[in-house]
Amino acid sequence: MINPWSSKQYFDYEKLKKEFGIENMDNYFDHYLFKRHLIFGQRSLDYIKYAVDNKLKFNAVTGLMPSGHMHLGNKITIDQMIYFQSLGADLFISVADLESYATRNISFEKAREIAINEYIVNYISMGLKPCNIYFQSEDHETQKLGYIFSNETNMSELRAIYGFDDSSPILHVNSPIVQASDVLHSQLKIYGGPRPTIVPVGVDQDPHIRLMRDIAQRLRIYNVKIENNGISVYVKGKEDPHLYIDSAIETLNKNNYKTDKNYEYRSIKIINARPEDKIKIDLMLIENEKPYNDYAFIAPSATFQKLETGLKGGKMSSSVPDSLISLNDTEGDATRKIKNAVTGGQKTIEEQKKYGGNPDMCPVYELYSYHNNDENYVQSVYDECKGGARMCGLCKKEAGENISQFLKNMREKRDESLSKINDYLMNKSP
Ligand code: SF4
Repeated sequence: MINPWSSKQYFDYEKLKKEFGIENMDNYFDHYLFKRHLIFGQRSLDYIKYAVDNKLKFNAVTGLMPSGHMHLGNKITIDQMIYFQSLGADLFISVADLESYATRNISFEKAREIAINEYIVNYISMGLKPCNIYFQSEDHETQKLGYIFSNETNMSELRAIYGFDDSSPILHVNSPIVQASDVLHSQLKIYGGPRPTIVPVGVDQDPHIRLMRDIAQRLRIYNVKIENNGISVYVKGKEDPHLYIDSAIETLNKNNYKTDKNYEYRSIKIINARPEDKIKIDLMLIENEKPYNDYAFIAPSATFQKLETGLKGGKMSSSVPDSLISLNDTEGDATRKIKNAVTGGQKTIEEQKKYGGNPDMCPVYELYSYHNNDENYVQSVYDECKGGARMCGLCKKEAGENISQFLKNMREKRDESLSKINDYLMNKSP
C-alpha cells in the first residue's frame, strides 16, 4: 500500500509500477526529465499526447502546500508544469490553504503570504507564464465539488485504497476528496468544459490519482471501452437510455462510424472502430454528454516522478534542513550543504580511481541530472564518475557552483516576478 502521508522514500519504481498498474513512459515527450526516466511512469498519458498532437486544449494541474520553503525537490513538478504550458496547456495551481490550516495551524493570511513569497514568485522566476492560481479557501466551486464527490465514494473503498481504520483522522479521509475537486474543477464549464488533464505527481500521490480517476469515470454517462479489438460504448445509470444512445449514434454516424445498438444492454457496438480510436471517440462523446451532465469529466492523466534524494540520503525533509536546498537559500548555504552531502563515491581516492563511483546512488549526481538540461554535460559527469575520472570533492564543488548560479538567478528575478503576481492569481492581492 502506498501511503501519501508517510515520510517513506520509495526506491523500487519497477516493483511499484507492476503492483499498482502504473504504465511505462514510452518516450512520450522530448524533455530531459522524460528522457532521463526521472519521470518513470504514467496513467493515460496517451490522452495528453493526443491533445498535443491534435492541437486540442488540455489542462495541467498541481497544488502547493503553503508551509516552509520551496526546495529543489519541489522543482520537478513546476518544471513539468512549465513544459506542459509550452505545449499549450492551461495551468491550474491550487494553494492548499485549507489543508495547511488544518494540519499545521497556519492562518489563511499567513498561508497567502507564504504561497506568494516562498513559492509562486519562484515559479514565475523559473519561467511560468500567467495562469490560474487560486486559494482553496476562496474557491466556492472546489468546495461544492467536494460535497458532490463525497457521494461517489464510501469508507470501504477509502479503507481499501488508504488503509484507513477507526482512528484515522477525518482530515485524511476528506483530503483525497478535496484533491479530486482541485483537479477536476479545472474541467468545469466556466473553464471550458471537459478536457484531457495532466497531473504531475510523486508516486506517493498515486492513491489520490486512482481515486479521482474512479470518481470521474463514475460520473460519466458514456463508458467507452476497448472490447474484442474494437470499441463499445455503454450508457450508465438507471434512466431510460434511448436519448443517450440515439444522440451518441447520431454523432458517431456523422463521423463515419457504423453502429449496432442494443437498448436492453444499454450499449452501442462501433463496427468499424479500432482500439486506437478510443480517445477520439471518448472526447467526441463527452461533448454529447455535456448538455445532460454538469459533472462530465475526462479521467485525469498523471505522470509519476522519482523523488529526489535528500543530501543526507533518504527523503528530503524540512525537519532536516541540511537534507535539502531551499530556493531562498543563499549561495553560501547551498555550497555548504552540498559539501557535506553523502555521495556514491568510494572510501578513498585510490579506490575511486580504481573502481569508479556509483552515480546511481548519489544525491550529488541527482543535482546534475534533475537540474541541468544539457544532455552531453550530464552524461559526461555520469561517465567520468563511473570510470573513476571524477573525484567527489571536485564534483561537489562543481555541483555547488551550478546550484549557486541557479539560486543567484532566482534572487535577481525576484522583485520583477513579485510585481507580476496579480497576472497569476484568480483572487487578486489587494
Ligand atoms: S564523483 Fe560525483 S557523482 Fe560520482 S559519486 Fe562522487 S559526488 Fe557522486
